[in-house]
Amino acid sequence: MRLFDTHCHFDFSVFAAEFSAHHQAALQQGVERFVIPAIGPENWSRLASLSDYSGVYYALGFHPYFLRSESAASLNLLIDLLDKRSPRCVAVGETGLDWAIEVDKNLQQQMFLKQIELAQAYQLPLILHSRKSDSQIIKLLKQARFTQGGVWHGFSGSEQQAKAFIDAGFKIGVGGVITYSRANKTRRAVAALPASSLVLETDAPDMPMHGLQGQPNHSKYLPRVLHELATLRNSPPELLAEQLWHNSHQLFALDDNN
Ligand SMILES: [Zn+2]
Repeated sequence: MRLFDTHCHFDFSVFAAEFSAHHQAALQQGVERFVIPAIGPENWSRLASLSDYSGVYYALGFHPYFLRSESAASLNLLIDLLDKRSPRCVAVGETGLDWAIEVDKNLQQQMFLKQIELAQAYQLPLILHSRKSDSQIIKLLKQARFTQGGVWHGFSGSEQQAKAFIDAGFKIGVGGVITYSRANKTRRAVAALPASSLVLETDAPDMPMHGLQGQPNHSKYLPRVLHELATLRNSPPELLAEQLWHNSHQLFALDDNN
């Protein structure tokens, strides 16, 4: 069974000392592909260097949480890097809006709009971070006539909320949230949505799975999400894994035959 972790912050310091051991531990669990999203200029070059490892891809962009007033000054550098990107750079993000943090809303929207524009221009999908902001995100994507699709990462919403993103051409990133029985609404949603719209993610080292709270989350735990999803959907895990593997490659315009 081959799995694709479509969202893990494998560049974060908790993995830095022994990156190749962490990478190996994930491979041993059948997690063969990874997308590491950017947080901002501070990790862009690290992501490019990690993509020398087998199955490691990355995105470039500005995470809303890490925005500062001077972030806009780095947009030209982002354009430069997108111009000469390697085939391992497969998306713009993670970007989006987070209405649950202190970061200025105007700054967030201005930087999000810029990244929508760039993803459209470079024909790349968007990796979306959305907290209490999903309707505004949909509105901005529509206003910008964005057509490149992408993923709503770390999904914890309802079926209706997910459908609005699916209609806009996005996939739904399913992670450790669904391992908690109290996440009723989200568990019902991922059970009901079309299998073709779903991809797996850990968001490691964040969003620990049920029973593993208090330790850093890890890509090697991705099979737990798969098995929970398979149970919720009443679907054989192997069959579901193949579908999700295919969806993930389609999402990032990668060839899934090698
Ligand atoms: Zn993330």
